[in-house]
Amino acid sequence: MNTHGAHPYHGVKAAMATRHGKEQVVAPALATAVGIDLVLAKDVDTDQLGTFTGEIPRRLGTPVETAVRKAELALESTGLTCAVASEGSFGPHPMAPWLACGQEHLVFLDTERALRVTEQKTTETNFAHHTTSGLDQTTEAFLDSIGFGPHAVIVRPHTPADDTPTQPLYKGIQDRTRLRETITECAAASACGRARLETDMRAHVNPTRMHQIGLLAGTLAARLATLCPACAAPGYGIVGRERGLPCKLCGTPTDWHRVVLYGCVLCPQHSTHPRADGLTHTDPAHCPSCNP
Ligand SMILES: [Zn+2]
Ligand SMILES: [Zn+2]
Repeated sequence: MNTHGAHPYHGVKAAMATRHGKEQVVAPALATAVGIDLVLAKDVDTDQLGTFTGEIPRRLGTPVETAVRKAELALESTGLTCAVASEGSFGPHPMAPWLACGQEHLVFLDTERALRVTEQKTTETNFAHHTTSGLDQTTEAFLDSIGFGPHAVIVRPHTPADDTPTQPLYKGIQDRTRLRETITECAAASACGRARLETDMRAHVNPTRMHQIGLLAGTLAARLATLCPACAAPGYGIVGRERGLPCKLCGTPTDWHRVVLYGCVLCPQHSTHPRADGLTHTDPAHCPSCNP
């Protein structure tokens, strides 16, 4: 918290390029914590950087690099000096591959201060797919599991025939009548006679994802609200964690983190802080000595 007057971003405009309504959850978070006035960069087509459905392949690069590129496009289109951008990726959970997980990234750029703040979060997601030739029982179970209705699906042929130049592809399907029609059409266009249903990951038709982006926007806003104690740059916050939380039985350092490292995005200022959960020791179950 800045106690010496208004935050440097109070009343400052920041641009966001999104075609999927993400400003609905990002704008309130930034306005409340920092006083930033979010402006939609309407002219930017973020799909030019790639789509989830693959008609335009994602360019090589990390999600953060893609988010930075989106933020730069928003800056160019609006002429502002601050911008925010979001990027998500979805796939098998790295620790439990039978579960799906999402990664959400938010980037804040300030070209005047040459400052970049990124926040990311591993999230719950309904990311999944299913193949079928009709609305049978297993398909209904799939639709229940992904929250169909508020959450849209994409429908396309499961095995596209090679000799057909344009394949049917339907996005944003949210009602059963339309779903039945598109399954019939895509199954007929598929060499295996089955349609492929995929969760639509675009935020405006995926409330689970929209909610997670909103939570991450709160984290980003809180970080921007925190000024560096040395140089007063916005965005002082977590830059890493140091392992070695000792075992409560024998004191051996474990893989669990002991302290949280905070740093400034512009100057060398840094500090160490206790764990957010207050733990000073870990259970012997996690100890390489007690439980090798
Ligand atoms: Zn131990
Ligand atoms: Zn600093």
